[in-house]
Amino acid sequence: MDRRTHHHHLKAPARCSSSDNKTDKASTSGKNPSSSLHPPPLFKFGLLADIQYCDTDDRTNFSGSQVRRYRNALNVARNAVEHFNLHHHELEEDTTTLNNTTTGGARSAKTRGIDFIVHNGDIIDHQCAFDFQTDSFKPISEGRRQLADVMEILDQSACREWIFTIGNHELYNFTRRELIDGVDLKKEGIESYSKDGLTFKCASEDGDLYYAKKPHEKWKVIILNPYDVSIYSKGREQGLDEEALSLLRKHNPNADKWCDENPDVVQTERMSGTFPYFKDLEGLNGRWVPFNGGVGATQLEWLRAELKSSKENEEKVLIFCHLLVHPKTTSGTGRTLLWNYDEVLEVIQKVGDGCVKCVFSGHQHEGGVHVDELGTHFVVLESPMLASDEDKGHPGPFCVVEVNETSVLMKGFGRSFESRLFPYEEGLENVEALEYKIAL
Ligand SMILES: [Zn+2]
Repeated sequence: MDRRTHHHHLKAPARCSSSDNKTDKASTSGKNPSSSLHPPPLFKFGLLADIQYCDTDDRTNFSGSQVRRYRNALNVARNAVEHFNLHHHELEEDTTTLNNTTTGGARSAKTRGIDFIVHNGDIIDHQCAFDFQTDSFKPISEGRRQLADVMEILDQSACREWIFTIGNHELYNFTRRELIDGVDLKKEGIESYSKDGLTFKCASEDGDLYYAKKPHEKWKVIILNPYDVSIYSKGREQGLDEEALSLLRKHNPNADKWCDENPDVVQTERMSGTFPYFKDLEGLNGRWVPFNGGVGATQLEWLRAELKSSKENEEKVLIFCHLLVHPKTTSGTGRTLLWNYDEVLEVIQKVGDGCVKCVFSGHQHEGGVHVDELGTHFVVLESPMLASDEDKGHPGPFCVVEVNETSVLMKGFGRSFESRLFPYEEGLENVEALEYKIAL
């Protein structure tokens, strides 16, 4: 049976149970308004995060709190690409009739389809690079092969502009140089991967791992590098960053002890998944663990300048950052937060002063949502590894985001009925794309 086409035959109207993520600025609903009643979006994009694929059996995570379905993540990625393509093609068909009527200013989505697609970090798993049984690195070719498995699927997308943000698992698997230049799969002799296939690369055209782009004259998209300050900032088998390691040791006694007992850790890079790093860390101090990182001083100044200019020019802003920025999206533990979330949050709130409409994160596979006093939404995307209801016609988690004059409308699917973004009644089958709306 072809599971990939389930969501094409949608019947049951979606109904949401009263969800706890509703606030005055946020709402979810099962309505699927006819697009003909509304002007076309200013721009739109596809969105998913944490595919974290590995060709390995399902298992629970390090702390035992979640079952990760590593191979099934590829099915979700395939569903996502097919869904994005439906949006893309459906709109391309109208191109001819609209060619002559396009007016300056608002760009017609009907002539553009999906403008870009974001994968918000962690494309393949640490285990593609490291064997935790034998405590040693695997051959580089293994990670390449598994990245190719993912890229072959993403390469089927009609939209050719992909933004891959940087997550911790990128740094376990690739060098920083590769993430900037692009991972060359052909060089590794991956025969199956097409000559002109999509390149996996986290940097901008200019080679920056944090950057801004303007999909519309009144909108700015900012990509942050939350691993600017990270023990892994140099990437696979380049040695740990000693400055970041000292910072981590200062804030985490477990890491400090581990490094004392394993003085070769800078070379072996044996940190994540190796010792009980959360032990005795209270509250938000849970963020001081090896797999998190921070935004460096230069990047923070750059962010400040970008938001200042957006505020002055009355631009609206969307931010993508693999790590979480708002503590209230982390269920109190802080375990998935940026090391210096407080500095980044202060810049977003004080300098941005409401011009940032949404900060999209990943990393915390169960997802999360919070809306602050300024109406900025902090949305944590769910991981395809946790998808549990695909056989009931739930293809997610992923969504298409439509940016309009008066709203940012996320239309998509959650990981299960318990999804925080797109919840549905338990047992309900074949739900249409649900909505999470950010009013502007
Ligand atoms: Zn992550």
